[in-house]
Amino acid sequence: MGSVQIVTTILAAGITAVAVWLAVRAVMKMTAVIRLGQPAPERFADKGARTRKMLVETAGHTRMLKWGVVGAAHWFVMVGFIVLSLLVLEAYFEVATTDGGLPIIGHWTIFGLVTEIIGVLGLVGILVLMAIRLRNRPNRPGGRSRFTGSTMWQGYFVEWIVLLVLIFGFVIRGFKVATDHFEFPFWATPVSHAVGAVLPDWADGVSVAAAIKIIISMTWLIVISLNVTMGVAWHRFLAFPNIFFKREPTKPAGSGLGALRPMTSQGKPLDFEEADPEKDQFGVAQVEQFTWKGLLDFSTCTECGRCQSQCPAWNTGKPLSPKLLVLSLRDHAYAKAPYLLAGGGKDLTGEEKATAAQLAHLDVLALAEADKPLIGTAEEGGVIDPDVLWSCTTCGACVEQCPVDIEHVDHIVDMRRYQVLIESSFPSEAGVMLRNLENKGNPWGAPQNTREDWTKGLDFEVPRVGEVDDFEYLFWVGCAGAFEDRAKKTTRAVATLLNEAGVSFAILGEGETCSGDPARRIGNEFVFQMLAQQNVETLNEAFEGREKAKRKIVATCPHCFNTLGNEYGQLGGEFEVVHHTQLLAHLVSTGKLTPVQPVDGGVTYHDPCYLGRHNRVFAAPREVLGDAIEGEITEMPRNSERSFCCGAGGARMWMEEKIGKRINVDRVEEAMATGAKTVAVGCPFCSTMLNDGVNGKGAGEQVEVIDVASVLLRSVKPEQPRGDKESAPVAG
Ligand code: SF4
Ligand code: SF4
Repeated sequence: MGSVQIVTTILAAGITAVAVWLAVRAVMKMTAVIRLGQPAPERFADKGARTRKMLVETAGHTRMLKWGVVGAAHWFVMVGFIVLSLLVLEAYFEVATTDGGLPIIGHWTIFGLVTEIIGVLGLVGILVLMAIRLRNRPNRPGGRSRFTGSTMWQGYFVEWIVLLVLIFGFVIRGFKVATDHFEFPFWATPVSHAVGAVLPDWADGVSVAAAIKIIISMTWLIVISLNVTMGVAWHRFLAFPNIFFKREPTKPAGSGLGALRPMTSQGKPLDFEEADPEKDQFGVAQVEQFTWKGLLDFSTCTECGRCQSQCPAWNTGKPLSPKLLVLSLRDHAYAKAPYLLAGGGKDLTGEEKATAAQLAHLDVLALAEADKPLIGTAEEGGVIDPDVLWSCTTCGACVEQCPVDIEHVDHIVDMRRYQVLIESSFPSEAGVMLRNLENKGNPWGAPQNTREDWTKGLDFEVPRVGEVDDFEYLFWVGCAGAFEDRAKKTTRAVATLLNEAGVSFAILGEGETCSGDPARRIGNEFVFQMLAQQNVETLNEAFEGREKAKRKIVATCPHCFNTLGNEYGQLGGEFEVVHHTQLLAHLVSTGKLTPVQPVDGGVTYHDPCYLGRHNRVFAAPREVLGDAIEGEITEMPRNSERSFCCGAGGARMWMEEKIGKRINVDRVEEAMATGAKTVAVGCPFCSTMLNDGVNGKGAGEQVEVIDVASVLLRSVKPEQPRGDKESAPVAG
């Protein structure tokens, strides 16, 4: 070992020792913070499915690849990071001897070939990612950036480190070539040979370059260890457990979509008959009241901003960005952690748990952080502004897009639950809806005895459950379908088509109440449970003696469809629920309904969030339209998984939209830009919102918003009077 090798070895060993010590300390700190969360025992079930999903999502980059170029570039960088870690290890041998290398595999030509290929692809990948970050930098002229609010220096730092480590990998090899110590043939390592051709024959070059590579790598480790909230770096390690512990590992996409997480206290579902707010946790009022998986979610965020770029609230000028919400919760959790780890925290009656002695040596900043209300305005020093919390439509675009499976909607609703159930703090307009649900069983407050008014004037009898011996489908009409004028037309269209196709169905009539979706999404779990339990009882009675496969329900409202199909199981109601577009697609494909006259004028289709993203029903409505219209559907730029919300979900239907541009107007502009005369929908709320948007733009005469069922009915029964025009003025 020469004097240069002695120096490089000491330098490498010294910086590595510091970096490893800091990294161990950082991992212990992060683990301690995450463990502050509430129990979530269900996250340990089904380890086989979890392992499979984690491997598929990480190795296959299934979620990242939804963004083609970025996904592919990131895949190469990820594989480069894993495989080329071996080359960082090899550098420890190279600092000590000029011809050093990894024992055994380091001499295999296949090792040289694979690392060469991955090194080149990793270089290309990181350059692409750097270019994308620069092109989308927040301060670029024009346009909104998905990186707005991200900590940009951290992204640039990580990318430069990756670039330099890759470059120095080739420089080390180049010096080996130049000094004739390289053992791999040209065909396996052409880039290394090319670099070697321009480097001098410097005997110590290998050791010096290897030392620089180690110093760069360890600088990265030191910096991220000193910044435990640096998700852009830590996600390399945290993404694996975060995906492993996702809520529903068997789901095809966003595991935090569809059903909401039930309310839990100490890891157990809350039983409202016995729950006591002084002993049980009602939603989330303190950051440590999220589950440990919530805290892991916050720690894992990469700050990539994919969620932000798709969020309807953010895109229309509201203060909510799912990314910034997650970052605020993360920063607050880590800043408050010293206080919590010292034994601090409030019990459920609001009393401080720690003694004065326990808190005596705490940093004043941690104490100040602990005093911040989780939900509060800027003047109150709140972590999350109420306007942020109430802007969410629960559309699920953030969950769908997040490459590391963060479950934003669950966290937002958990915070809403505390605000509604304990603080009674929510937009006052929604109070009327909640009172109507409690007193009348529907959000409009319509008399229950008018639930069957939509059947009046039909030229066939609509049977009620109990009046017929048997029925195949229970037609769940929904409150909108029963009381809202436009939606009533969809209900009539569906009933007419089912009757035409000879499907035996029955309705609950006055036995039906609201599914509870708006109550649950606004955070009033108590009202949801009340309504849902009543409905589950009614439905179980209606299907008594039938196995699950024969407990079939067809619903026109995607919110009811989602609640009945995905959430009633939490209360003992197991049913086979289909959306009307799925049943209609089946009836057309099996020849039970025959479209005879194609509807013309151009048609576009708006995916309802709770039908599409939350439940993956994208094809059925398109199939129905494909059979019923002239030509092809003209898709909007944002469609299917990336569809843009109408603005009504998450109980936003019953809140005023006072900030920014109206979401429905944004969507209507996109629909009208297609030139289509018909905007087909599959949800009564979308219908209302888009109709309002079209009328607001004064385009009610040119553009018609209408349910898929009504489009089909016009094609199947062209002689049907046009009273089905949903945007036409109607008598109440
Ligand atoms: S659910 Fe939709 S509205 Fe809510 S934060 Fe996510 S993207 Fe935004
Ligand atoms: S998509 Fe996921 S990882 Fe990316 S910024 Fe949003 S929450 Fe963070």
